[in-house]
Amino acid sequence: AKLRNSIVKRTKTVCPFCGVGCSFEVWTRGREILKVEPKPESPANGVATCVKGKFGLSFVNSRDRLTRPLIRDGDHFREASWQEAISFIATKLSRIKEKYGPDSIGVIASCTGTNEEAYLAQRFARDVVGTHNIDNCARYCQAPATTGLWRTVGYGGDSGSITDVEEADLVIIVGSNTAEAHPVLAGRIKRAKKLRGQKLIVVDVRRHEMAERADLFITPKIGTDLVLLNGVMKYIVDRGWQDEKFIRERTVGYDAFVESLKQYTLENVEAVTGVPKETVIKVATMIHEAKSVVALWAMGVTQHQDGSETSTAISNLLLLTGNYGRPNTGGYPLRGHANVQGVSDFGALPTMMPGYQPTSDEEVLTKFEKAWNTKLPRSKGLTSTEMVDAALQGKMKAMVVMGEDKLNADAGRETVRRALSNLELLVVTELFMTETAKLATVVLPAAASLEKEGTFVNTERRIQRLYKVMEPLGEARSEFQILLDLAKAMGKEFPYTNPEDVMGEAAQLCPIFAGVAYSRLEGFNSLQWPVKPSGEDSRYLYADKFAFPDGKARFYRTTHYEPRVENPTYDLMLVNGRMLEHFHWANLTGRVSGIKYKVPEVYLEVSPQVAAEKGLKDGDLVMVSSSNGRLKTRVMVTNRLEGKKVFLSLHDSKEMNVNELTDPMTRDPTSKTPAYKETPVYVEKLEDC
Ligand code: SF4
Repeated sequence: AKLRNSIVKRTKTVCPFCGVGCSFEVWTRGREILKVEPKPESPANGVATCVKGKFGLSFVNSRDRLTRPLIRDGDHFREASWQEAISFIATKLSRIKEKYGPDSIGVIASCTGTNEEAYLAQRFARDVVGTHNIDNCARYCQAPATTGLWRTVGYGGDSGSITDVEEADLVIIVGSNTAEAHPVLAGRIKRAKKLRGQKLIVVDVRRHEMAERADLFITPKIGTDLVLLNGVMKYIVDRGWQDEKFIRERTVGYDAFVESLKQYTLENVEAVTGVPKETVIKVATMIHEAKSVVALWAMGVTQHQDGSETSTAISNLLLLTGNYGRPNTGGYPLRGHANVQGVSDFGALPTMMPGYQPTSDEEVLTKFEKAWNTKLPRSKGLTSTEMVDAALQGKMKAMVVMGEDKLNADAGRETVRRALSNLELLVVTELFMTETAKLATVVLPAAASLEKEGTFVNTERRIQRLYKVMEPLGEARSEFQILLDLAKAMGKEFPYTNPEDVMGEAAQLCPIFAGVAYSRLEGFNSLQWPVKPSGEDSRYLYADKFAFPDGKARFYRTTHYEPRVENPTYDLMLVNGRMLEHFHWANLTGRVSGIKYKVPEVYLEVSPQVAAEKGLKDGDLVMVSSSNGRLKTRVMVTNRLEGKKVFLSLHDSKEMNVNELTDPMTRDPTSKTPAYKETPVYVEKLEDC
């Protein structure tokens, strides 16, 4: 045992997959991962993890990891030294900047990178390149939720903690397959329901596990959640169930907001959503009777044309009923990637400097200019989806894409392929040769999160330390090092020697991180922002005031956009989402043998009605077509869906990626997030050969 203990290393880290942010110790012998051990003191998860965190980390040792920089040479790549690769990129970027201007360059920060790397990425874009064209993958998923919160309560983060979700009287889940996408958080809800009868309402198009467990499960027509929510609020106001004291003392804009609800009668809500008026009344009554309510939502809400509007409506509902600013209440957009919250928090957004300080605020820009001894751009930055548009139009000439498989993540794969192929320079930092990396001019081998130091922020605004479990494989490097080297090669030496230096600067320049310090984040210690200079952090937000200058929340009137629906050519509606075992395009989990064995490929779930109409049975091969593309897959008939609906999971990065089918130009107009969940398709049975 003594010998074993001497060669086994235990290192605390944070799960690289979803935004629950489970932390644990990883036991290793050399690069071999022996065990993942969550601890009672793990703040988000205690002793729980899901299958991905427990058994899904071995991708770090996959044989097809990238280990050397690669430079395109005709239609293939040649290996290069780091020095050559960095100098090649720096020269090209500098030339493009000089010839076309800094706004012809875009940077995408990785949502599985650390906060410190995100901070460096945005500084690189703004300070070295001279553009606000910096974004991250929240654009595909959570940007509309953030918009809804910014409009109404001020901070773009969960207003409470996972503990508040567990201890609430009533949980409302809208458009989230929580049991598969955020399994450990779902476990806390299941426990609360079992142990103390917590009530649960689920609104979704698919009868997944949480829907099965719900006290009330509602399936509105696709793209009509906003109308349902406004109908519920109209009924609450009609019955006088709104929280008058809270509204009077803590909000503005109530009268105009109530006026905007007038159109939502029980009858027309039923006509638009298909939800019976008795159900609308039941929802309103359950909310009225609950002492504390939390609302959780995810991509079933955000990936629609009215994603920002529906997110806003959820927040309006919580304001109307006084469910903000006290324990066990509030709004919880469930963040997808491990650090998608942190990458946004630390400034990888076109409109925000780190700590959600707007780029439109001269005082903010001046503060950063002084700290960085530079002149920052005043031009408007582009979102990730707008960068693709600009590349298609030939205005975007170079992109640096870190840890993001855009070809699989963006809606409309062919359009994205054309856009990226148009670039004069595409730099990709990655663990593997992804579909996006295959299009690159230069591919840089990146270190995995297990191979670096830094911090992540989970969905509940919790900042947690990662310690280095093992050294980077081969010549792989952290994006921290890559960005330092690239900035230096372009003439700017950043004054940071390690991630702690970056966090120290962020604490000085960003009020919400004022008291964040590595010394307060040792081991399993964590801090939920905002953190006061004293180190006092925030389990929940808005106890005294909302994050607006007058301290009051804003009721915000919402607009419903007609969703795309089935039509004579494309007679079914396709929705997409996750499975428990895999993560996103399976670029990581698809390289874990146990997971790959259990779930080798994606398949199309079809409702019994669709199966009957098209003569389909389990295992049949089909062609799924949309106005954007087509793919072949196999069928599973399931009662999880009703009517003219089919479901395809996200988890294929090669032939069967759902984004062959999605439309890149149907977007939420505010956040520019594609309406992935509004995809009419046609399904045709194929003969097996
Ligand atoms: Fe990782 Fe999310 Fe699973 Fe926790 S719930 S182990 S963070 S994938």
